Amino acid sequence: MIKIESISYSYRNKSLPHIVALDKINLTIDSGEFVVLTGPNGSGKSTLFRILCGLLQPSRGTVTIHGVDLLQHPQRARQSYGIVFQKPALDSHLSIFENCAIHAALYGMSRQQLQQRLQEDLSWTSVADRLHQPVKTLSGGMARQVELVKSLLHRPRCLLMDEPTTGLDPISRREFLQAVRRLQQQHQMTVLMTSHLFEEAEAADRMAILHQGQLLAHDTPDRLRATIGPEMVAVQSEHPDQSDHIWQDLKRRPGVVLQRHSPTELWCEHAQLPEMLYDLLQHHRQFITSLSFRRPTLEDVFVHVTRSHEEQQR
Ligand code: ADP
Ligand code: MG
Repeated sequence: MIKIESISYSYRNKSLPHIVALDKINLTIDSGEFVVLTGPNGSGKSTLFRILCGLLQPSRGTVTIHGVDLLQHPQRARQSYGIVFQKPALDSHLSIFENCAIHAALYGMSRQQLQQRLQEDLSWTSVADRLHQPVKTLSGGMARQVELVKSLLHRPRCLLMDEPTTGLDPISRREFLQAVRRLQQQHQMTVLMTSHLFEEAEAADRMAILHQGQLLAHDTPDRLRATIGPEMVAVQSEHPDQSDHIWQDLKRRPGVVLQRHSPTELWCEHAQLPEMLYDLLQHHRQFITSLSFRRPTLEDVFVHVTRSHEEQQR
């Protein structure tokens, strides 16, 4: 379990005003849980990540990793986790095997243990037959796979990753995230991953939202979505006049909740959705070019959470 309590951090540069990057963050990640910490650029994700890796000392607060106080016993705490940095951390002139051998030596693993684990761990990757090739000959997605394999060689109980999918194409990104999820379940690891792409939290057990150094929400993606509201139906028309015509009609019906998304698209919601859709098609079919269900996205959740926070501040 990772327990972050009242962590604050400010960057103090002599010539510049100091920047409060983290403001009293409290976050508990249960054992075996996969948490994605999301937030836009500059929200403080990497600062929190650097504190968890022991690279920055927080101005205040405590971090406990599987019962070990990180700030009091950094060496001991670091034994229990693996790290994947945002910037590639492999030596591109060395082979996959050599990069992994350095990591294994740092963690006191024998050569035999290394060879055995590599055979097991590379099986899901697309580089299993490239063990002795220099890393610089691999694609970005392959190199990320190697970083993940390397970070897990010593079988850590936790895995920390800072924007690990940066620079990957959509397919490699999806494959990488699927591999993380599979390995997390297989080894029952506690995983904390940061991402500025809100949809990357879709597969997480819980999503934490960081905004301007403050943690604004931490819950399952579905529960966070439910705070915005239920599924809506998006009704698209060709012309604004047609959309307006439908709007005027629906507005008169009891129990319909309406939102105008654009001049030609409106979103509606109703407790008796099938009946409402039937009516809609019966009376306005000629004005509808498309009808679709719209589930709130995790980006909608972020917008909603930050807006409510700003309203509370006023
Ligand atoms: P994120 O990873 O979410 O993009 P960061 O943790 O990198 O955010 O940054 C949080 C805030 O701290 C930003 O305002 C950023 O400009 C500032 N910051 C980050 N690194 C430094 C640094 N080395 N010196 C001064 N300010 C920094
Ligand atoms: Mg960052």
